[in-house]
Amino acid sequence: MNAAVFAVENIPLIEKGDDIARILTQRTQLSEHDIIAISSTVVSKSEGRVIFLKNVNPTGRAKLIAMNNKIDPRFVQAVLDESVEILLESPFLLALMKSGSICINAGIDHSNVEGSDNILLLPEDPDKSALELKKSIFNYAEKNVSVIITDTNGRAFRMGQTGAAIGCAGIKPTRDWRGTKDLFGRVLEVKNEGIVDEIACFANILMGEGDGGMPIVVIRGLELYDESNGIKELYRPENEDVIRKAILKSRSV
Ligand code: GDP
Ligand code: MN
Ligand code: MN
Repeated sequence: MNAAVFAVENIPLIEKGDDIARILTQRTQLSEHDIIAISSTVVSKSEGRVIFLKNVNPTGRAKLIAMNNKIDPRFVQAVLDESVEILLESPFLLALMKSGSICINAGIDHSNVEGSDNILLLPEDPDKSALELKKSIFNYAEKNVSVIITDTNGRAFRMGQTGAAIGCAGIKPTRDWRGTKDLFGRVLEVKNEGIVDEIACFANILMGEGDGGMPIVVIRGLELYDESNGIKELYRPENEDVIRKAILKSRSV
């Protein structure tokens, strides 16, 4: 299997209401079954997910966490508001979000956002954003594509942040090898490859983290197109998540 990967040039600064599918299809010729990786930052911008810190009123709990972590209590409040559960309060906020994703600071970003008082929340429903973008791209380009919304996340156990998928459409989040054979005829029993994260990682290399202005990457030739939508199956069920249980247990002693 061969694939080609490229970042789309000349994407403007994205603002609330901007039509990302139109901006993309005006700038590049898409092929059937392309995979489009789009940075969550620009999806959030287009969805108007900006918050002004001056408008946030921190509660007592937010103030306490902020004091311990030496960060802005209004930022903490924004994280609390975006979370359904806080797994860790300190030394950083580890949040479970409505979407099922667990990440630091509920994915709220300062970087690549205009203005010193502004912060950017993740898209409210990244799977929904991905599906809408997929449909909209079809309307403009008449091509069935997969869409993966990406973010840069830190990782447990390993240094170095990497790309991660936070929403998808037109692709299965995992590629199941179970039941297939290895080189020596042994049947694979466990391997279920997290392909949307792998693709997000590679796309993230082309995006970079700074002022590159490359929020959209096209991956061509993988032939992973599928009619299924949504990333939920990538999130480990709570009752099988031993790390999550250990964190919660360590908090209560
Ligand atoms: P995240 O990983 O989704 O949190 O996004 P990053 O802040 O790491 O940005 C990823 C890429 O998108 C970088 O190349 C940024 O320069 C670029 N980027 C962010 N916002 C914009 C924008 O509004 N317009 C353009 N053209 N690029 C942007
Ligand atoms: Mn981010
Ligand atoms: Mn990034």
